[in-house]
Amino acid sequence: MINFAIATTLNSLQMMFLLSAVPPVLDPEMVANLERLGQQLHAFGQILSPYLGIICVAVAWLTVFAAIGNAIVGLTEAAHRMRTMHQIPCSRCAFFTNDHRLKCSVDPIVAGSEAAINCPHYEPSRDTYQSRNSENII
Ligand code: SF4
Repeated sequence: MINFAIATTLNSLQMMFLLSAVPPVLDPEMVANLERLGQQLHAFGQILSPYLGIICVAVAWLTVFAAIGNAIVGLTEAAHRMRTMHQIPCSRCAFFTNDHRLKCSVDPIVAGSEAAINCPHYEPSRDTYQSRNSENII
């Protein structure tokens, strides 16, 4: 198989030279190096072949564990981010305007950001999303 790959590569190189109008003469030293590389790869394949099944199974399981680990890390980060976003009090604050041009009349720079989590100007509003919805229901 490796010999086939090398033969294919050599054929491709020859075709490239033919197509580019360069005389189709390959450097004999390069050909010898490629053949040597092919022999080394073949020997390496012979050494690895008894363990190939184990290696493939190990790589497959490692891939599965890596995917599961990435999913867990992603979900944990998303949960942490969501918890942090829910700590921002601006949407429940009396000074929050809900207008992107001026989010807050007291501290518009930090309004709606994580910097507003412990805002000293926070004033609970009665016009919250919950109260608005409960009025609509009634
Ligand atoms: S006063 Fe503070 S908590 Fe209220 S909207 Fe402005 S930044 Fe947010």
